[in-house]
Amino acid sequence: MLSTGSRAGLKERGLPYDAWNAERRRSPDEEHPLAANLPPVPPRPDLVPGGWPPLEPRRRRFPAWVIGSALLTIVAMVGALITSLVVRYDPADHRDEHRFIARDFGGDPLRWNPCEPVHYVVNVADAPAGSLADVQEAVSLVSAATGISFAYDGLTDEVLERRRDMVQTRYGDRWAPVLVTWLDPDSAQVSFRSEGDIAAGVASPFTPPGSDVIVSGWIAINAEDPNPPGFGAPDDQGPVVLHEWAHVMGLDHVKAQGQLMHPAGGGMSGFGPGDLEGLRQVGRSQGCLTTPPVP
Ligand SMILES: [Zn+2]
Repeated sequence: MLSTGSRAGLKERGLPYDAWNAERRRSPDEEHPLAANLPPVPPRPDLVPGGWPPLEPRRRRFPAWVIGSALLTIVAMVGALITSLVVRYDPADHRDEHRFIARDFGGDPLRWNPCEPVHYVVNVADAPAGSLADVQEAVSLVSAATGISFAYDGLTDEVLERRRDMVQTRYGDRWAPVLVTWLDPDSAQVSFRSEGDIAAGVASPFTPPGSDVIVSGWIAINAEDPNPPGFGAPDDQGPVVLHEWAHVMGLDHVKAQGQLMHPAGGGMSGFGPGDLEGLRQVGRSQGCLTTPPVP
């Protein structure tokens, strides 16, 4: 059970590469081009016998109202920054009961448009018998927790690639349905490695570039995992499939035992209370979104 979901909204920061490189190439004794424009450095007071000379009152370069409005702008910007930090801080995230893979800039969790069905297909070529029933049961539980309807588009022979094409001719002119598939970790293009272990399942939701709405995703179950199909015990295959579906719906791992979204399943064979609250917050009760059009 490992999330490989990408975090939306994160951007690389830092100096543009070329500017940094230019700084490095300048020889140490070469005068910095900005140095000529800098004011002379005043002497340190402890080097001037008799202390500082009286300071000339500095002439204002700008009228008072310009400085005043600039200060107001700075205060407003700092206020907006603090407000956004407060809005993005969710105490519920820190109760270790549920977490979201990412939030948009308004502070809302990334989620599907809950007013349209989530389409999915299943590749059972390498799955143990009974696996399709595990998928259907998991879908039923996720649907009940979110209020979102699901549409089974049938079996597929699609092989999951590392960078899955999210619009495919085989599925028509629409976002590719969620792919649920069984793979051998030794030959799969996606990695099952998780902190030195081999995961029982991995999953990822998909949001198109520039969008905060999940439109597709995939779930890969370890075909070499000996856990049997069913939901009877936490180590059965069913809870693994259910855990991965919750990732596709936008839930991330929590540290607490007693929640299925613990990285190792939390000792659960179904959703815990925190899992259910997280799923409610990405569900139908939160209102419709606009599904981004396919490119
Ligand atoms: Zn996981």
